[in-house]
Amino acid sequence: MELRLYDTFTREKRPFRPIDDKNVRMYVCGPTVYDFAHIGNARPLIVFDVLFRLLRQIYGKDHVTYVRNITDVDDKINARAALDFPGLPLNEAIRRVTEVTASQFLADAAALGCLEPTVQPRATDFVLPRADGKADMVTLIKQLIARGHAYEAAGEVLFDVRSMPDYGALSGRKLDEQLAGARVAVDAHKRNPADFVLWKQSSADEPGWDSPWGRGRPGWHIECSAMSAAYLGEVFDIHGGGLDLIFPHHENEIAQSRCAHGTDVMANYWMHNEFVQVEGEKMSKSLGNFVTIRELLADWPGEVLRLNMLKMHYRSPADWTLRGVEESARTLDDWYRVAADASGDKPAAAVMAALSDDLNTPQAIAELHALRGRAAAGADADRASFASSLRFLGFLSESAAQWESRKQAASGVDADKVDLLITARAEARARKDFKESDRIRDELVAMGIVIKDGKGADGKPVTTWEVAR
Ligand code: AMP
Ligand code: ZN
Repeated sequence: MELRLYDTFTREKRPFRPIDDKNVRMYVCGPTVYDFAHIGNARPLIVFDVLFRLLRQIYGKDHVTYVRNITDVDDKINARAALDFPGLPLNEAIRRVTEVTASQFLADAAALGCLEPTVQPRATDFVLPRADGKADMVTLIKQLIARGHAYEAAGEVLFDVRSMPDYGALSGRKLDEQLAGARVAVDAHKRNPADFVLWKQSSADEPGWDSPWGRGRPGWHIECSAMSAAYLGEVFDIHGGGLDLIFPHHENEIAQSRCAHGTDVMANYWMHNEFVQVEGEKMSKSLGNFVTIRELLADWPGEVLRLNMLKMHYRSPADWTLRGVEESARTLDDWYRVAADASGDKPAAAVMAALSDDLNTPQAIAELHALRGRAAAGADADRASFASSLRFLGFLSESAAQWESRKQAASGVDADKVDLLITARAEARARKDFKESDRIRDELVAMGIVIKDGKGADGKPVTTWEVAR
């Protein structure tokens, strides 16, 4: 089965060929930790987790390196820190903001069923030259200056876009067009309006590091060039992130990395997820439809959110709706009943084939529905194949009993009381007191309980129940 991935750079699906199949290397831009992650941020998290799982399955668990950074130095963080902790010195306030936000992010990712990346470096650990000799931002900037790709002006260090003939190749923006179309006032100190900041000066109370260009802090893009080189080398296999990062962030990462190292490419495959909107509208604070993962997790198990995200292909815009989430919850309830207690560790070939076609998760889910039908018919091999496919995709982290009892706990239902009522109803039916058994059924319905009458393995009547969604 051949893995094919859509590459933003070449704008086509191409067979995936790693540089080294003993160490497949992927970098995904992570969060800037100034605010809790929203459901849009969950998309790259989940999508690239599925790719990580797929690569591990194909190349072996120990042969994939996945790096996802945490951006803990950024002017948005500074602004938030000053706002939230006006009484504290800025650097202390920043530490509070980044600590709380980063740990919430890690908790969100785990709850969404994402495996931990191999490394999660923090930008602030890669500003200055390191004791372990791994790549760092200051050294990269020095290399760019030495190679004639960057210059100092007005206390800043800027990347000189004219020094790179094919600057703009990823986004397909021609430099001349950009300049012709630029309405922004040209900053007097820039050689070119499109030149971007590598290093800028910090005031005494802003976060800063002593550098050859004075006390300052890095621009946004340079951190990913440093951290990817630190863990994946100068050229690696896959670079991912959301669509909004293509320009300027990824364009500028490419410019920095290629010009500092003198390489033709930074990564061989560039992958970008489309955006998520909510109930048909763009998510924004002002519309009040800004949904954080943390809030959603208060109402739904992480696996429900994960399934709901994967129903949509990562390169299509996704509409996040309550209806969709409810439907995903019903699907998972059903899948848990059919599969949770089956073992097995070999995902179905049809599911692997769907994912290998540029992560076609809607097709993979269609295959899961088909597998569910066969599994419910009872053959152990089918149940094992269904269960392994679900686990491979990050589902079934609980037993069927845990799933059901969590659902009951979340709905505030008293399970003991339900069991007592069901026993009383069975007794009423046994003595043909149907008025009483109907009354008990109505009482259960009023509690939000759905009961199902069926037959057990021994042919005797059994009543099962669940909480209505
Ligand atoms: P940020 O913290 O804003 O840098 O975003 C972290 C990641 O989430 C980046 O890969 C973004 O491209 C991605 N992202 C942000 N908003 C959305 C959205 N509405 N839909 C999908 N991805 C998003
Ligand atoms: Zn990045």
